[in-house]
Parts: sequence; structure tokens; C-alpha cells
Amino acid sequence: MLRVEIDIPHPVETLFLLFATGGVLLWMTWDVPQSRKTQASIAPAHAASTTDTEIGGDGGLAHRSPDEGGPDRQARMLALRSAEDDARRIRTEQAVLERSEEILRYELKILEDEAVRSGDDAAVRRAKEKLLSLLADERAAEEQFRQTLREMWEAEGLSATAVVGSPGIVHVLWPVEPDEGLSATFHDPAYEQRFGIPHNAIDIPVPQGSAIRSAADGVVDTIVDNGLGYSYIIVKHEGFATLYGHASNFFVAEGDRVRQGDVLAASGGMPGTPGAGTLTTGPHLHFEVIVGGERVDPLTVLPARQGLRPVQQ
Ligand SMILES: [Zn+2]
Repeated sequence: MLRVEIDIPHPVETLFLLFATGGVLLWMTWDVPQSRKTQASIAPAHAASTTDTEIGGDGGLAHRSPDEGGPDRQARMLALRSAEDDARRIRTEQAVLERSEEILRYELKILEDEAVRSGDDAAVRRAKEKLLSLLADERAAEEQFRQTLREMWEAEGLSATAVVGSPGIVHVLWPVEPDEGLSATFHDPAYEQRFGIPHNAIDIPVPQGSAIRSAADGVVDTIVDNGLGYSYIIVKHEGFATLYGHASNFFVAEGDRVRQGDVLAASGGMPGTPGAGTLTTGPHLHFEVIVGGERVDPLTVLPARQGLRPVQQ
């Protein structure tokens, strides 16, 4: 019986470490939520929404009513929201790790069986080399995937605090024309099944390098250029914000005032190109609309388009 020994770090150990680290960080920051007070004053609607989310096994982080306290209460609720985000993040990472390990173990078994069946040394050696390169590929792919997830979570956090004024949207334009329909809708179940995270946006397929136009008058709040990772731009408008994902070639700078229709950047999304990251399968604009710190379906605020239906990409 021939066996090829490969050391695969178990995801449960990694997760335990993540939980332990998260717990210590939460404990350390629990009584000094100064930075969160700033957020509370910017986005009270965001703070109030913490009461409708649930996390299990939170060790004493009980739910509280949004109207029983001042800034301290709000700061604590924002800390709770942050703990909930961490829990959601860890659950997603767990799903990613479990899935890739499952695939890897299956592939390892096939290769091993083949080597055992043929019984010759050269085949075993080739199988072993293939296993090692497979493992290296899987690890690299997983790290890239996790990096993209981190970048997307960071984008969510930044856009949630980018809102000023009272929530409300008037006169929004399409940032690119949806001539080819949509490749993913808001909270698209197919997207969630594929990537393991909810899709808080619409994906509009357009040729690589198309002009992305500001959906409304506003100020460029954030530009994040992650090289080949997920890159994006956030524009702050009166009462809401918009996020344009997989962007490259930014034509504006943070702090610039923009008019509706001004070109912000070039679109991307083609795997392996600047701004794409790993959560994309083809060229498109990932477009988010944020009101009161929460993402809303962009189709509810964009002008209606005839025959606009989700298309497969
Ligand atoms: Zn998207």
C-alpha cells in the first residue's frame, strides 16, 4: 500500500485562533469605543438597525432597544454591530475553508488511488509532485479569495459611514448603460451560492474599460486601488452614497466635487485585470447604493429600463 503524506492544516484550528483573537480584541476595545462615537453621529440610522440582526452564542451581548440611552448606548450598539460583522465574517471564512478542503481531499484521493492502481514508482512520484503543486495552487487561490473578501468587507465598512444628510434619493442616473441586462441582481441567490457571500449590489455587464459615470452630484469620498485585487470608488451624495466596484484608471481624486454624469473611472471585472479581484467571472460594473448606512437595491432608485432582466454570464 502506497501512501503520500501531505500536511493539510485543519480549518477548525485556524477558526479557533480567529475566534480567540476576535474575543480578545473585542474585550480590549469594549470600553473605549471613541472612534465608534464618531460613526454614531454620522449614521444614526445605521446604529438603530443593529437590533434586527442576530448572532448565536455571543456570550452576553444581549439585544437592547435603540431608544434607551445616549451616545454611550449608541457606541455600545455599534460595537455590538461590529461583533456581529466579525461573527458573519468568520462564518463565511469557515465556509470557504471547508469547501476548498473538501475539494482538495477529493482530488488527493483520486490521484492517490491512481498511483496505487498503477503500482509503479514513476507514477507515484508524478502523483506526489502533482499533489504538492495542487496543494500550493489551492493555498494561493484560497489566500487570494480571502484577500478579496477582506477588501470587499472593508469597502462595505467604508461606504456605510460615507452618508451625510437625511436619507433620501432624488434623480439617480445609470453609471453605465445596462444594454446587456444584469449579470447579478441585488441579493442574487446564484451569486451567494457561488461565492458564499450576499450580493449587496447589481452587476451590470459592460465592455472592459467602459466609462463609469457618477450616478448623481456629489463628492468623491474614497478611492481604493488594490492593484489586481478588488478596487472601488465611493461617492457621497446628499442623503446617500454610491459605490463602483472593479474600477481602474481613476479619473478623479478623493475630495473632488463631481456632477452627475462625470466620468469617475474605467470599468473592469475581467479576471486577472487591475481592480478585478477574485470574485468576478467577466467584465462588469458592481454598483451599490447606500442609504442610512444600509445597502438598498439600486433598481429601486434607478430609472426603469425596458426589458431589463438578469442574464447569465
Ligand atoms: Zn457585484
